[in-house]
Amino acid sequence: MEFKEECWIVKGIRIGGYRFGRMVYHSEGTLHSVSFSWEEAFSKTTLGWCHTHPFGFRNPSLRDNRTMHGWSVAIGKPLLCGIRQDGSNKWWLYWRNKKNQQNSEVIRKPIKVFTVLGFICYKEDISLSSESQGELIIENFHT
Ligand SMILES: [Zn+2]
Repeated sequence: MEFKEECWIVKGIRIGGYRFGRMVYHSEGTLHSVSFSWEEAFSKTTLGWCHTHPFGFRNPSLRDNRTMHGWSVAIGKPLLCGIRQDGSNKWWLYWRNKKNQQNSEVIRKPIKVFTVLGFICYKEDISLSSESQGELIIENFHT
C-alpha cells in the first residue's frame, strides 16, 4: 500500500507572546508538492505547516529541512513544521538566523505545542538562551 501524505496549513494569530492557530486547508500530497496558493503561504496569518509521516519517521526529513529552509528565508518569519503520526503531532520551529547575513542559515528547534479550546498554542521562542541551547539544532541547510 502506498503511503499518502496529508498536509495542512496552520493559520492563526498572535496574542501576547503566544500564537494560536488552526490546521486548515487539508490536502493530500506532500509538504513539498502540496498545492495551495502563494497568496495563502505568504499571508500574515500563516504560521506554518503540518504533514503526516509514515510510521517510524517522527522527525523532519532532510527534504523537510530543505523545504522549511526555503520557506523560512522566503517568508522571513519563524515557521512551524508539524509532523503527524498516529494522530499525534510533533512540532518544530524554523527561523532564519538574522545575525548571520553571509548565508541563509536557518535554525530549527523542537517546540511544545498545546491545544487550547481546539486551537494549537505555542510560544514563539526564537531565543538562543542557555536553557534551551540543548534543544537547538543549528544547521546551514543551504548546501
Ligand atoms: Zn516530512
